[in-house]
Amino acid sequence: MKRLAILGSTGSIGTQALEVVTANPGLFQVEVLSAHSNSTLLIEQAKKFKPNAVVVTNEAKYREVKDALLMLPIKVFTGEQALADVVQWDTVDIVLGAIVGFAGLHSTLAAVSAGKRIALANKETLVVAGELVMKLAAEKNSAIIPVDSEHSAIFQCLTGEDANTIEKVILTASGGPFLGRKPNYLVNVKASHALQHPNWTMGAKISIDSATLMNKGLEMIEAKWLFDLRNEQVDVVVHPQSVIHSMVQFTDGSVKSQMGQPDMKLPIQYALAYPKRIPNNYKRVDFKENSKLTFEPVDYKTFRNLAIAKEAMIRGGNAPCVLNAANEVVVHAFLQNKVGFLEMSDMIEKTMESVSFIEHPELEDYRNSDTEAREYAAEFVKKSQLSMY
Ligand code: NAD
Ligand code: MG
Repeated sequence: MKRLAILGSTGSIGTQALEVVTANPGLFQVEVLSAHSNSTLLIEQAKKFKPNAVVVTNEAKYREVKDALLMLPIKVFTGEQALADVVQWDTVDIVLGAIVGFAGLHSTLAAVSAGKRIALANKETLVVAGELVMKLAAEKNSAIIPVDSEHSAIFQCLTGEDANTIEKVILTASGGPFLGRKPNYLVNVKASHALQHPNWTMGAKISIDSATLMNKGLEMIEAKWLFDLRNEQVDVVVHPQSVIHSMVQFTDGSVKSQMGQPDMKLPIQYALAYPKRIPNNYKRVDFKENSKLTFEPVDYKTFRNLAIAKEAMIRGGNAPCVLNAANEVVVHAFLQNKVGFLEMSDMIEKTMESVSFIEHPELEDYRNSDTEAREYAAEFVKKSQLSMY
């Protein structure tokens, strides 16, 4: 029986993880649940899964959650530090990091420090501070098992292989809802439009990142740190069917891929149960039905976010942290119709030019770069034509 701390339990990944738990009562037990603002769902989940502790990071929601769970033997905490404390408890075996954005860094680092096994969905943690996180994980013997479908695929392809035989990894990208579109079309797209992903149902932020291809850029950086790769070993190809979740090309030219239905419950349950595989009756890939698996190069010119992210990866230091912070700000603004789709890339680029470069950042530098980048990006958002209405 593995005892889980599910951070971000009310989100897309968090709720799917709880479905996996429900389907496997003999394997998993919920020890901690956490969410930021969706107190109604958090309370409902706490009543159902009866964890030892619940953390609602948004302090304004604390009283409501506390009162609702008063009659139950559930400890209720609030704040970022409380979350970092509970993930270190002896009663926690696996921490599922499913918080969105930079906000997930602190608790992930705490869990890594305590040597916990991490099932990591929160890719921004590795984008911001991958070098630091992976180094600490090696020191503390904390296994980080990716939940992101591409990285889960690569992880599965590498099982039983010698890491020195990797020539490159090839991340597949669905291309998102605007595959094949050009700037003259993208200039007018709105958030409601960008939120309609063809293959996956996800949280709002990652849905926009998928539409701009920033998601794939973040995933390149995530892959670099997870698998200890050089920049030139990380490649991307568009594969609209999302059946091949990614590939590894080895030094003998052989390529391994992992395939499956586009369903996040698969990589979630793989990360939670690793090295076991849990049988289930989810829909299978039908190769007779899915007779066409196609590939095409990415359009770096139109989807500039991917090019900018790649550049940040190559630049290293605090550049990916700045990229991430700027992106979080502009995506938030885009979701509120305050900036245009193409403007997001301009603003990220300008933020990257504005924040000073730090080649070997420490944790404090990442925190400061994140704050500084957010301030610049917010200024650029304010100056946007759309923000003025
Ligand atoms: P979501 O927006 O649906 O859920 C986010 C969760 O994080 C919620 O439970 C929310 O309460 C919590 N949260 C938000 N802000 C917080 C804060 N400041 N402090 C503490 N908790 C906070 O997001 P999601 O789609 O589930 O994505 C979660 C992470 O997983 C992201 O990093 C995303 O990139 C990654 N991921 C998601 C998918 C997917 O299919 N949704 C796939 C791969 C990777
Ligand atoms: Mg992914």
